[in-house]
Amino acid sequence: MSDLIQKAATLDAADPLAHFRDKFALRDGLIYLDGNSLGALPKASAAAMMAAVEQQWGEGLISSWNDADWVNAPSRIGDKIAPIIGAGEGEVIAADSTSVNIFKALGAALSLQEGRCVILTEEGNFPTDHYMMQGLERLSGGKISTKAVAGDAILDHLDTDIAVLLLTQVHYKTGAMRDMAAINRAAHEHGVLVIWDLSHSAGAVEVDLTASNADFAIGCGYKFLNGGPGAPAFIYVAKRHQHADAVLAGWFGHARPFAFEEQYDAAPGIERFLCGTPPILGLAALEVGTELMGKADMNAVRAKSLGLADLLITAMQPLCRDHGFALVGEPDRTHYGSHVSFAHPHAYAMAQALKARDVIGDFREPNILRLGLTPLYLRFEDVILAVSRLQAICESGEWDRPEFHARAAVT
Ligand SMILES: *Cc1c(COP(=O)(O)O)cnc(C)c1O
Repeated sequence: MSDLIQKAATLDAADPLAHFRDKFALRDGLIYLDGNSLGALPKASAAAMMAAVEQQWGEGLISSWNDADWVNAPSRIGDKIAPIIGAGEGEVIAADSTSVNIFKALGAALSLQEGRCVILTEEGNFPTDHYMMQGLERLSGGKISTKAVAGDAILDHLDTDIAVLLLTQVHYKTGAMRDMAAINRAAHEHGVLVIWDLSHSAGAVEVDLTASNADFAIGCGYKFLNGGPGAPAFIYVAKRHQHADAVLAGWFGHARPFAFEEQYDAAPGIERFLCGTPPILGLAALEVGTELMGKADMNAVRAKSLGLADLLITAMQPLCRDHGFALVGEPDRTHYGSHVSFAHPHAYAMAQALKARDVIGDFREPNILRLGLTPLYLRFEDVILAVSRLQAICESGEWDRPEFHARAAVT
């Protein structure tokens, strides 16, 4: 371990992103390995939210829709998310939740695919992705059907019945990352449109929607973008598809919302993928997180993420050998996102025991201890400290205390 402590110190000293840590409100002693589930609080967020509450809402009241430019917040923030995911101006908008955006993207893609009525995904995709597909199938009265196949067989199932392929780029459990450009290419050869769920990609790995010729994408604001609990999500629609039917045709997606016309007439650009009134307070926090993320060079973020993962996997080797942990996936992380998962028969209790020692990771069914690596605020030293605390937990047997086995509502 002492070699690794030395190595971590060297890596921290040379870290070009080290200065970002001070931009986050992180309690001393805490090691936060769950930024892939809820990103940490940027120090500037509280002031931005207070301004939105006290000045814009409190004093400006309804005039703030114009005076504080509330009305353009979704597209303004969308344009700040765009460079983080390799999208162009006017292709991304901050709105609704990821789940709702999945529904909108599915509906839009289907509207472009007359005669095709199957939505394809992989088994083991994030549950909400499955559920939104299934809901659409029920709503269609069976006209649209859904199909989930083994992840490694996806390409074999592309044919002229498939309207749309819904995939998550970085798997929420295993961290495995898909080759977006190759899958888009294969899908397009069969006339299939692809929707990418970027929940564990945006701000975590280099994404280039433009270069990979992506059709649609959606993703979370509260994970690597640090937008706060329940932050608005985003939706990306390539310019060439923006004439698609937005399906959830709310008045904010109308070409002239304040004309109050009874007949729906979709806005020409990405605005049509808005639905109702934007959540301004949530957007205020998301804007801060997004601006901060936008200042980081994504190549440097990815390089640090890979370095953190290598160090973590190396440091975990003794625990894999002696205490029943098993790395999920391969040690070469170039085809993974920014979290590392370890299987363990008592993964839930391990996660709870770690929390008691001020290391926050999380548990995912059925046996996964998931450790998120967020390059903006994690130090290499933190990785070593986390593993040494986990080792102490294993050696002392403290993970087996009854309180660490009791399941909380949110894991
Ligand atoms: C976190 C996550 C979501 C979350 O959807 P919400 O509507 O924000 O709850 C969706 N998809 C994936 C792949 C996720 O990891």
